[in-house]
Amino acid sequence: MTAAVVAGGGIGGLATGIILRRNGFLVTVVERKNRVDQAGSGIMLYPNGVKALDTISPRLGRRVRAAGHVTAPDEIRPLLTPDGKVFAEDPVGQLGQRFGTPQVSLLRSALLQSLLEEALAHGVTILSGVAVEDHFDDGGQVKVALSGGDALWADCLIGADGINSGVRQRVLADGRAAYCGFTTIRCRTRAPSRFPSGFVVKGPGLDIFAAPVGGGDVYWTAKIMAPAGDWPARAPDEAFAELVELVQDWDADIGDVIRGTDIREGIVLTDIRDREPTADWTCGLVTLLGDAAHPMTPALGQGAGMAFEDSVVLTECLLDASSTADALAAYPARRADRTADVVRLSRWKGPDGDPSGFSTGEDLLAKLYSWDPRRGG
Ligand SMILES: Cc1cc2nc3c(=O)[nH]c(=O)nc-3n(C[C@H](O)[C@H](O)[C@H](O)COP(=O)(O)OP(=O)(O)OC[C@H]3O[C@@H](n4cnc5c(N)ncnc54)[C@H](O)[C@@H]3O)c2cc1C
Repeated sequence: MTAAVVAGGGIGGLATGIILRRNGFLVTVVERKNRVDQAGSGIMLYPNGVKALDTISPRLGRRVRAAGHVTAPDEIRPLLTPDGKVFAEDPVGQLGQRFGTPQVSLLRSALLQSLLEEALAHGVTILSGVAVEDHFDDGGQVKVALSGGDALWADCLIGADGINSGVRQRVLADGRAAYCGFTTIRCRTRAPSRFPSGFVVKGPGLDIFAAPVGGGDVYWTAKIMAPAGDWPARAPDEAFAELVELVQDWDADIGDVIRGTDIREGIVLTDIRDREPTADWTCGLVTLLGDAAHPMTPALGQGAGMAFEDSVVLTECLLDASSTADALAAYPARRADRTADVVRLSRWKGPDGDPSGFSTGEDLLAKLYSWDPRRGG
C-alpha cells in the first residue's frame, strides 16, 4: 500500500489526506498548529471548488454545505460605489443553475473543522503540534524529519504547507512570494444589514467585500492598497479603528457593517502575495499542492478551490501511473496551465486592476467554474 506524508494540515492538506485515504493510501498529515484557528475569516467556494469537494468525499460536501451558507437561486450581490449607489449586480445565485453547484460560503474555522472531522472518520493519521523540518529523497522513499527529532518514511511527500512552504524552498529554492501591493483585513459580524446577500464596494484604494457565511454571521474583508508590512504591523484594534476612519464618509449602511463588528471575534491582517506561475513543482518523490504550488491573490476566491482540485487530480495520477515518481511528474503537467490562468486572472482582478469589479456572471469566469472532475479536470 502506498504511504504518503502530507506536510500541512490546512485546507489542501486535510482534503488530500481524505481523498487519498478513501482511495486506499496510507496517509499521515503533519500540522504544526495544535488546533483549528477560530479567527473571523470566511471562505467563498465557487462551483468548481464545491464539485471538487464533493469528489473528495460526498459526505464532506454535505458537511460543508450544512456548516455554511448555500446561495439561493435568486440571490444577487450588489456592486456599490462608496456612497451606496449600485453600479452593477452579481447574479451569484445563478451559479447553481449555470454550473450545477451553487456557491457555498462559510467561516474558515468551520471549513477546517469539517475537513478535520472527515479526515479522522476516514482514518487519516494526523500529527498536530508537529512541524515538518526537512526531508531526504533517496529515490525509493522519502525520509521526513519532524520537530522533536522523530522521522517518518513514506513513498512520497506532499508539501501542502501554504504560501510560505518550507517544502517548496527545499525543492524549488525560489524565495518568498511577491507582495501584490495590497493588504487585507478580515473579520465577521452579526450586525444587521440591508444587504442580505452581501455586497462589493469599489472605493479609491480600498475595496470591501461582504457575504453571509451561515448561522447569522456575515464575513467581510477590506482590501487596502498599502506598503508591504504596514498594516500587519499594527495592533488589531488600531487597524480596525483606522479602517472605520477610512469608511466614515461612506454610505451609512455599508459603514455600519464594519462599525458593528466585535473584533474580539478575531480580526485577521494579511499582506497579499503571489508568485509568477511555475510549470513544474515536483522533484522526484516530493510534490506541492495548494498555496505551496501556486499562491494567488484572493480576488476571485479560488485558492481553496484550486487546492481541492489539486487533491483530486493528484489522487487520479497516483491511481493511474505505474510508479509514484511517474504519478508525481504527471500531476503538475495536468494542473499547471489551469492554475497559472487563475493566478494571472486573480492578479488582474485585484483592487488596482480591473475597474469593473468582480461579478460571477462574467463570461471569462465560465471556464473556471465549469471544471468537472468527471472529465478529468
Ligand atoms: C484575505 C484572503 C481571503 C481569501 N479568500 C478565499 C476565498 O474566499 N476562497 C478561496 O477559495 N480561497 C480564499 N483564500 C485563499 C485560501 O485561504 C488559500 O488558498 C488556502 O488556504 C490554501 O490552502 P493550503 O492548504 O494550500 O494552505 P493553508 O490553508 O495556508 O494551510 C497550510 C498549513 O500548513 C501548515 N504548515 C506550514 N508549515 C508547516 C510545517 N513546516 N509543518 C507542518 N505544518 C505546516 C500551516 O500551519 C497551515 O495549517 C483567501 C486568502 C486570503 C489571504
